[in-house]
Amino acid sequence: MKEFVLNDFFDIDKCDQCGICLNKCPVLLYPIEKAKIEIKKLINLEKAEVILKCHSCFSCNLYCDKNCNPYNLILFNFYTRYVEKGISPIAKLVLPNEKYNLWTGLEFLFSKNENEIINNWDKEFTKQFLLMGCFTQFFPYLTESNIIKDIKKRGTEKLWCNGGHIYQLGLLDIVDQIGNMTINEFKRKKVEKIITFMEAEYSMIKNILPRFGHKIDIELETLSQYLLKEIKNNDLKLTKRLKSKVTIHDNCFSKSLGSESWDTNRQILNELGLKIIEMEHNKENATCCGFGAASYSFNVLDIMKQSYIRLKEAESTGAKALIVYCSACLFIFSVAKELLNIKLPIFHIFELVQFATGETPKHNQSKRSWDIISIFTVQMLLNLFSKNFKIKTIDSNKTWSFSSILKFKILKLLNKLFHFRMVRIFYSKLFKILLKLYNNTDIPLVLLF
Ligand code: SF4
Ligand code: SF4
Repeated sequence: MKEFVLNDFFDIDKCDQCGICLNKCPVLLYPIEKAKIEIKKLINLEKAEVILKCHSCFSCNLYCDKNCNPYNLILFNFYTRYVEKGISPIAKLVLPNEKYNLWTGLEFLFSKNENEIINNWDKEFTKQFLLMGCFTQFFPYLTESNIIKDIKKRGTEKLWCNGGHIYQLGLLDIVDQIGNMTINEFKRKKVEKIITFMEAEYSMIKNILPRFGHKIDIELETLSQYLLKEIKNNDLKLTKRLKSKVTIHDNCFSKSLGSESWDTNRQILNELGLKIIEMEHNKENATCCGFGAASYSFNVLDIMKQSYIRLKEAESTGAKALIVYCSACLFIFSVAKELLNIKLPIFHIFELVQFATGETPKHNQSKRSWDIISIFTVQMLLNLFSKNFKIKTIDSNKTWSFSSILKFKILKLLNKLFHFRMVRIFYSKLFKILLKLYNNTDIPLVLLF
């Protein structure tokens, strides 16, 4: 196994331990003296409080004027914790090599049509394609559109999102293995151009995997860059003006791309006729949708707590809808909206482009969220009998056992129960009570972990 050293990720020589990065952090907001102490602890790989509170949002990299990459220092600390203690069994849900995870669970609950859509992506790579991304796979209907009907679509969870979410969790050795697998595969298939549905994958291929030694000379474009170009060239005809006020959530990976991402997505909304009301935390200061909160605790309550805070911030702008341009943010926010009764509509930016071209997107996020909640709930119950673990392989070939079949049977039953509105209301109330208790006491609930 490759040995990782701190200097590969963080410029220790340039860092004067000024603490500004952690002082400006929108989550920690440490007083400067505390920030200095914490940076020192992180550099010495001692038990820093940051590791128990950081949302893995990338912002601190942008606050350091010496370009030391403090976010990578935090990731390295997450990694050393992982090497020492492993990760919580709840993480299995986002690991494609596991028999029971969000992808296999959804495959089990998808309609026949949705499984057909995914099967059509899961073929050989061609010279050019739209890389769908493992979290877009939660919403196959999202990609049924004339706008992208002529582009070949590839890339399921078997590509591990090019390491995106695994990087955010700090599992650096696994990111290295994923990068080795995917970049070599692209090279072998002589891929020339990739358009990425998820910016995380664009950022991984363009900026992050090269730091692990996995580079490829290839033309890359995000879906938003592609859409904006098509709109400006008049190749994509906008037949409707969407006159409304919206707010926009900038995802964590967008911070590794900066205005290349933020401006493109805002320009699309302007082209559609929408007025943007910015949230207090936007662009380089944007806080996470909640997914990054998994990095420090792997606790669903922490993820939902952060998601709730972010959704409330979006609501407070007075906007009529929240727009996201990351499928993982869509997943987390949609689940939080259902569980915590958030009224604000949430759309992927691609859905808005569909509206503006006269299409009616399926927008099946409510049903999909309850599918995901069913899968989470089964795993959380099983966590009562599981311990922390380490990932042994990234091989996604699964062999089935009695216990995995049993899990799917329980899943099916629970999912059927969630078809009843009263059961959803009851579950949502129960979840809110747990979250309230958790917030008030700040004691991790052993019930869940
Ligand atoms: S990483 Fe940069 S901002 Fe943070 S303490 Fe070091 S020099 Fe200061
Ligand atoms: S990654 Fe985000 S939450 Fe974590 S310390 Fe940096 S700015 Fe704060």
